[in-house]
Amino acid sequence: MVIFTLIVVLAIFQGAEARCFCTVKSNVLAKQTPCGFTITSIPEETCFPSTETKETCKLNENNKEFQSIEYSPGLDLWIDADSLIVAPEYKCQNTKETYEDLAKSCSAIQIVTRSQWQARPPRSRTNLVTPVSMLFVHHTAGATCSSQSTCSARTRAIQNYHMDSNRWNDIGYNFLIGGDGRAYEGRGWSTVGAHTGCHNRRSIAFSAMGNFETSSPPQIILTAIQNLARCAVSRGILSSGYELFGHRDAMSTSCPGRYLYSVIQGWPNFSTRPVRC
Ligand SMILES: [Zn+2]
Repeated sequence: MVIFTLIVVLAIFQGAEARCFCTVKSNVLAKQTPCGFTITSIPEETCFPSTETKETCKLNENNKEFQSIEYSPGLDLWIDADSLIVAPEYKCQNTKETYEDLAKSCSAIQIVTRSQWQARPPRSRTNLVTPVSMLFVHHTAGATCSSQSTCSARTRAIQNYHMDSNRWNDIGYNFLIGGDGRAYEGRGWSTVGAHTGCHNRRSIAFSAMGNFETSSPPQIILTAIQNLARCAVSRGILSSGYELFGHRDAMSTSCPGRYLYSVIQGWPNFSTRPVRC
């Protein structure tokens, strides 16, 4: 009972401790001091605990109010208060990962570039407006692979099928995840894909190589998907509060297979919001 009471008191105390602020504009500048130089630019809908400190800085004869946020442990930065809104505290709890942690997730995944897997050039491409707020997970419903050479060959075969049979401009997905744990660059970070019908222009898609309707996805693929998603957030491609879906949430398909789908349903960003095309 004493312990229980203590937990409740601690929870109340922590709840009152820090407010949470989220950016409401894209490319928000974070500065060393209110009037100081810019350290980094932050995508829209990125949330940070507040340090509860405000200061004004005179810019072009106008007094601008700046809010201090905890950018990462031990590093407080200043953001123009007009670019922030107060958000519910859970928004900050979900983004406890700092940008430094997120950037590390980019080095935790090896991306095999188009030239490395010997891609054909796209027939044409359309620029993706980022950050997008939706990530769709697919499976290729085909053979799996376990080395860079076999996964590269699979990726080339899928590109041929998408370009020659489907008559698409390029391989459909933004990235493919091999059974070797590498990410194979499809349309990449900045090109609209052909993967999820009505959502192509407002999402990116990762496709796990293999058939996960008939077998369970190996951990190496699951870890790679998670690292690539976190890397996408750190690069400002996915918004930090992005929603995760399976292809089947938007269209009538079994993709990404029942076994992979049941795993992603347990991930923190998974959304049950109806998104059927
Ligand atoms: Zn799919």
